[in-house]
Amino acid sequence: MAKPAVLADNMVITYNKGKSNEFQALKKINVEIYPREYIILFGPSGCGKSTLLYSILGGLVPSDGHLIVRGEDIYAYTPAEMNRYQRSTIGIVYQQFNLISSISVMDNVALPRIFMGTPPSERAERALGLLQRFGINDQIAKKLPTWLSGGQQQRVAVARALVNDPEILLADEPVGNLDSISAEHVMDSFQEINEKDRKTVILVTHDAKYLPYAHRVFYMRDGLLRRVVVNPEKKQIKRTKPGETIVTEIEQLARLYPYAEPIELKVKSVVNYVTQTLGFSQLGRLEKLILDVLKGFVDDALFYDQLVRPFDKGGIGVNETEAKDITRRVFILMRYSHDVQRFREIRGQDSAFINQSKFIDRLLEYMEKELGVQANADQKKALKEAVAERVGGMKNGDEFLQTMMLPPSMGGIAFDRDISNAISRNLEKMIAQGGYIILPNELLGAHT
Ligand code: ADP
Ligand code: MG
Repeated sequence: MAKPAVLADNMVITYNKGKSNEFQALKKINVEIYPREYIILFGPSGCGKSTLLYSILGGLVPSDGHLIVRGEDIYAYTPAEMNRYQRSTIGIVYQQFNLISSISVMDNVALPRIFMGTPPSERAERALGLLQRFGINDQIAKKLPTWLSGGQQQRVAVARALVNDPEILLADEPVGNLDSISAEHVMDSFQEINEKDRKTVILVTHDAKYLPYAHRVFYMRDGLLRRVVVNPEKKQIKRTKPGETIVTEIEQLARLYPYAEPIELKVKSVVNYVTQTLGFSQLGRLEKLILDVLKGFVDDALFYDQLVRPFDKGGIGVNETEAKDITRRVFILMRYSHDVQRFREIRGQDSAFINQSKFIDRLLEYMEKELGVQANADQKKALKEAVAERVGGMKNGDEFLQTMMLPPSMGGIAFDRDISNAISRNLEKMIAQGGYIILPNELLGAHT
């Protein structure tokens, strides 16, 4: 296994440190990203996606922990080393394009090369070549950026990010300002850069419909990495053994424990979900303990006691804060016993990656045939977005229902209550049957 391209090790990022408005945007976050992976950072606004990205860029000094890129602690770099790192190892694309409006498109792309001491003719050749590749011809390249459409400007920004041939390409909501067709073009270019140029891509989005582009999706919430979901539709970069591909967590577990009963796999899956930080011996004990919870032998107080009891005294040796969090999550899970039932199947399929449009088609068909409702283009678009958000776990069932009833000016569809209820119920049923990844909100919720 190759060394991680990026490794965040218990990294804390604090804004306004020491001031009254001090704020921890990343809380002891642990992240591993491998060379040539395409990673999407996904989560609600304010969860720390941009903060994580800018820390990889070398712009935010951790108040604790480390950020290691290709084996080097980048925050231990001298200014000159940091400069070189930012110039040649990393490329970045922003939501707002950030092109210089007073110079031509070509010069925008060539600019980073000037600092590398590349001769002008060579700079131009490289810039034009890259622009060509992303659909910007020599004619357009002579214009000022403001002459270009948003989609074209963003493709210029992508070319600029690549001009120094960086190993890692960062992108912060790169299609957030684009119409859906331009957005798709730009997203396709990131895919090409990942697959053909073999670059590591780390991209931020809050839009679930782009998740299928990634090898792995990092679900963030409240400054933490909550879950990593592997896209079963993509050949994985991160391998367990030579020649072996991780498909889904449950498949992985089933391979590791070929004779395990479904309930044992379920326990492992729960354990894996509630904690990523324990060692193997601790995990073994935690599994036994959770099995006892599932069988009803252990209540929450006893569970907590066992968690905090030192390992050499037969416990698991977790600190109090973590123990509280694990206890809370496990017992929420127990209350949702039917969800627990579904949990394994759902995780087994990881099907946020299943073609969402098929799902939307079924919903539209149901609306037309069963409810006699014909959706127009705008309504279909809003419905598509709402379904993507529901399926991606960004909206719960109630919020989806609200969206059905909201006016179009608020991104809704303005269906009446009965129809909205029927659509919403049908979607929830499909989710339950189809095994989309949806977890109870409480499980994803903030620390209390
Ligand atoms: P995301 O990109 O996921 O929307 P950010 O990483 O931008 O989230 O922000 C995470 C949290 O940190 C938010 O609560 C935000 O208000 C806060 N934050 C971001 N930048 C700053 C800053 N410069 N000063 C203080 N707080 C900040
Ligand atoms: Mg952001």
